[in-house]
Amino acid sequence: MHYLCVFGNPIAHSLSPFLHNAILQAYNLPYLYGRFMLDSTQDLGRAFARLGLCGANITLPFKEHACQIAHSLSPLAKHIGAVNTLVRDQSDQLIGYNTDAPGFVMSLLLEGFTLGQEKSINGIEMQQLAPLIHQKGKEYGKESIESALILGAGGSAKAIACALQQCGIRTLVANRSSKHEAFFTQRQIPYCTFDELDCKNVDSSGRFDLLINATSSSISHALPLPESTLRPLLTQAKLAYDLMYGAPSPFIRLSQQCHTRHKDGADMLILQAISALRLFCPQLENTPRIYAIMRGIFPTLSA
Ligand code: NDP
Repeated sequence: MHYLCVFGNPIAHSLSPFLHNAILQAYNLPYLYGRFMLDSTQDLGRAFARLGLCGANITLPFKEHACQIAHSLSPLAKHIGAVNTLVRDQSDQLIGYNTDAPGFVMSLLLEGFTLGQEKSINGIEMQQLAPLIHQKGKEYGKESIESALILGAGGSAKAIACALQQCGIRTLVANRSSKHEAFFTQRQIPYCTFDELDCKNVDSSGRFDLLINATSSSISHALPLPESTLRPLLTQAKLAYDLMYGAPSPFIRLSQQCHTRHKDGADMLILQAISALRLFCPQLENTPRIYAIMRGIFPTLSA
């Protein structure tokens, strides 16, 4: 038997063991996926070795620390500065990847959107996704995303901003505080605080194709910005995206009122898990079947 797990703190809420084990069982693979709460003073590398793992997912607050214990990083993980997937290779070296970023990009492709140069994103295989896009009844390439506004600047916003930047999408990050500014400035991604939002944009149109709520406001059932600021942004957007999943958030409900197409974070979670699983078990094929199994169990898990 091979062992996998997710490390985090807290970890009890994690859906990863359910999503991963559902596939490992369906494909009759000799792997078991667990979860492990890591104390912040514990060493992730030592815990990984002690548990005899062949791979792991890493969640808050250890994604940055995971970069340091990896022996090498994928170019995307290096650029983002965060690892959510560690794989032990045949020489016992730990390789760090970031599958949050491709998971997010794939979730947009699944909606049928084209994104500039999306094929440059690690881990995206259009041949695998094409049947899935078709299965979802979407027509790929009908609409494109050229510009994006990301609300929030925490871990997920960083991964998404880097992914969109690599796709060639003009992206602005806006946050309630300026504490993450250095990260984005170093990567030449425009950044502003919510107060400065009125006078910032990525082009002369004053609108964004994609509006992403990557703040944790939805967890406290609040909007990330005042309704009066959000409404015009939502009305002009092609897609409103809240990374939160489960019950519709205030951001999703406001998008509905504005008649704007909207999407929650379930597909991103599932698609990052599929990318990670394919790194753990490269023999796993048939992304549409894996997606269907995960999607099928998802509502009962996130209810
Ligand atoms: P972080 O804690 O790293 O960042 C939170 C961000 O939200 C910060 O920018 C913070 O601002 C801002 N923020 C917090 N509360 C509010 C508020 N009330 N109003 C406006 N801004 C606020 O979180 P993550 O980036 O990891 O997660 C963000 C969201 O994304 C969560 O809802 C999480 O559940 C979801 N998520 C979904 C994933 C998926 O696969 N679908 C994956 C990862 C996350 P400041 O910097 O000023 O503190």
